[in-house]
Amino acid sequence: MRAIIKAAEWTLGPETAEGAPREPMYEAECASCGESSGATDGEQLPAEVWALKHTGAHPSHRTYRAIITSFWRVSPAEGNPYRELEAQ
Ligand SMILES: [Zn+2]
Repeated sequence: MRAIIKAAEWTLGPETAEGAPREPMYEAECASCGESSGATDGEQLPAEVWALKHTGAHPSHRTYRAIITSFWRVSPAEGNPYRELEAQ
């Protein structure tokens, strides 16, 4: 996804820095006890499986918060003075 807001002269897009995750991170958090699956890169299934197993072990824990994390970066657009400064 890439969007340009001309008045602001900034662009918003995915973070491309080295080491930044390219895919969203998925995590399930139990609403009853707060226990978490931990975040997994790019795959939703491990968090889903964790939630099913967690309810299996704690049958009264049935509500989860699904946390999906992506990283964005705002960069100077064409004509923005920061663009020329950063290019030097
Ligand atoms: Zn729980």
